Amino acid sequence: MKTIIEPFRIKSVEPIHFNTETYRNNALRDASYNAFLLHSDDVMIDLLTDSGTSAMSSAQWAGIMLGDESYAGSPSFYKFEKAVTEITGMPVVIPTHQGRASEKILFSITGGKGKVFISNTLFDTTRANIEFSGAEGIDMICPEGKLPTIPAPFKGNIDIKALESYIEKNDAAHIAMVIITVTNNSGGGQPVSMQNIRETHKICRQYSIPLYIDACRFAENSYFIKMRESGYADKSILDIANEMFSYADGCTMSAKKDAFANIGGFLALNDPELATKCRNLLVITEGFSTYGGLAGRDLEAIAIGLYEVMDEHYLQYRIRSIEYLTQKISAAGVPVMLPAGGHAVYLDAKQFLPHIPVDQYPGQALVCALYIKGGIRCVEIGSLMFGKYDENHQLIPAALELVRLAIPRRVYTQSHIDYVAEVIIEVFEERNQIKGMKITEEAEILRHFTAKLDFV
Ligand SMILES: *Cc1c(COP(=O)(O)O)cnc(C)c1O
Repeated sequence: MKTIIEPFRIKSVEPIHFNTETYRNNALRDASYNAFLLHSDDVMIDLLTDSGTSAMSSAQWAGIMLGDESYAGSPSFYKFEKAVTEITGMPVVIPTHQGRASEKILFSITGGKGKVFISNTLFDTTRANIEFSGAEGIDMICPEGKLPTIPAPFKGNIDIKALESYIEKNDAAHIAMVIITVTNNSGGGQPVSMQNIRETHKICRQYSIPLYIDACRFAENSYFIKMRESGYADKSILDIANEMFSYADGCTMSAKKDAFANIGGFLALNDPELATKCRNLLVITEGFSTYGGLAGRDLEAIAIGLYEVMDEHYLQYRIRSIEYLTQKISAAGVPVMLPAGGHAVYLDAKQFLPHIPVDQYPGQALVCALYIKGGIRCVEIGSLMFGKYDENHQLIPAALELVRLAIPRRVYTQSHIDYVAEVIIEVFEERNQIKGMKITEEAEILRHFTAKLDFV
């Protein structure tokens, strides 16, 4: 087979600001060893997130110019609505400024004290919005999803047996909904199979529990289904997405992911009564129902991006670039989540830095080392992000200590990725010199965004 090439040419470029290791040491110290507090022009390769960092296409930029900024009834909204409904099959489409705004609206209505939300894995903002409403979020990832370095095709699946036994032991009426996150961002960007979604749907139907999809990476998940699940090889991405959404009562989506937009999101629903309640909240928090928190030009860019992301040449290149980086570092002995996920490479920091105990945040120590060594910015997905304290203020660690290198869509070329692999391998060879970390200041919710740290 020939090399899989980037399925685009580059028309406009942004310079990378080169700096030195000494400079980066100082910059990181000034940022209190929290990569979120770095100035992005001090970063050479920014793999902090794939959210809102995509390169838009010439067609999307042309759409930006076509955007109609009417307060109500903009043609840009109807184009957006048509795209979302065509993909999800859901008649109600509520635009929001990003995914978490959809979550806030939906959970304010369906959540509250005593309610439970069950998921394969809730993303951090999703969990935070659930907990902020007073409800509880429970993750039920399948057993293979808990083993970071053992390959399996659908490690994002929800644990069907655990779900059933939970429902049998508890009152189903307290379960606000089941949320399937595709792909499973916090669990390694691993896909969820169609069979798993179908079975979850059956159980939810049986107990009258609504099923929602956190659809941020619906196209990447659809591509994995096409590649790995029998019966889907000849189906189009749109057909697969349609089937996936057909099992759900609604979905939330961040258009900053699989829509190539720099901002935006939506909530799509089947239930018109719930839709009315959501729109009432929308108008006081986001805006009127035909623009939500968005400008007309954003609605245009998203409507176009939602179709571009379903292009199979794009998805082949996308999934292959993540796999390429994963294989390259794995071959050098770096402990990395296997198989490669859809949007990011996940290093297993516990195995990478076995000399650093979990209460010294090995993931964050690795994040700092990669920045200092190569100017690469990435994010810890471990006990800094998800850790809690017990009554004695002892850390209750997260299940996994991961470092995520999220690859922005259509932004970096193969030589950037080769450079990233070289830096990771160099840091791995010098891993014994890396020191553990402690938190010196933290917020109560989503502490990883603002926490200040230092070396122990
Ligand atoms: C990004 C993301 C969200 C939140 O979307 P924002 O646009 O960042 O608010 C929710 N769920 C998942 C799985 C995500 O990746």
